Amino acid sequence: MTLSEDQVVRYSRHILLSALGGKGQERLLATGVTLTGQGAAQAVAAAYLAASGLKVSAKGRPVAPEETGFLLAADDVGRPLEAMMRAALLDANPDALGQPSEVGALGELPAGFSGTGPWVALGWSGNRGGLVYRGRDGCAACFERTAGALSNGPAGASAVLLGALGALAFERLALGLSQPLGGLWLSETGEVEPMDLDRCASHGQTGR
Ligand SMILES: [Zn+2]
Repeated sequence: MTLSEDQVVRYSRHILLSALGGKGQERLLATGVTLTGQGAAQAVAAAYLAASGLKVSAKGRPVAPEETGFLLAADDVGRPLEAMMRAALLDANPDALGQPSEVGALGELPAGFSGTGPWVALGWSGNRGGLVYRGRDGCAACFERTAGALSNGPAGASAVLLGALGALAFERLALGLSQPLGGLWLSETGEVEPMDLDRCASHGQTGR
């Protein structure tokens, strides 16, 4: 796949980052993300991923009120998410539509994760935002256990920040720039710190 002139212009900031470059942008354009949960942070992540050229798709359910503001409008609430998302992406970045060669999942909890990855779970524990990520080499059981401590949260400034971080974590996994498994906490004041992983039985406290 080769970038068109339009794409070079649209993604110039990406391409200029040495870790990404033209090859990296091509990789993002070939990567898909299925939205598997529901929430404000997930909606923000979807907008960032679409802006980066990833193919964003959603499962059939109505648009929720907390999902409006970025890609979706107040008028879209209650309408089919899949159709509203397609219309929004056609406007925002048509590159975010289409058939990807690899598909991962991103979801604000509760959400289901399947396939090889990347997987990114977003959620909350009290007032803290949490993010758990897993690439194809990360342990699914460790991911599920760690993400299982998080729950759905409210819209607000923290949701915007958590969503942006979630998109970045997904892109890093897609580009092979990330550790295979990890998590981050986001405090109310916007500080980010590593999350201790809840390891599965076969990984104890030391495996990956
Ligand atoms: Zn494990």
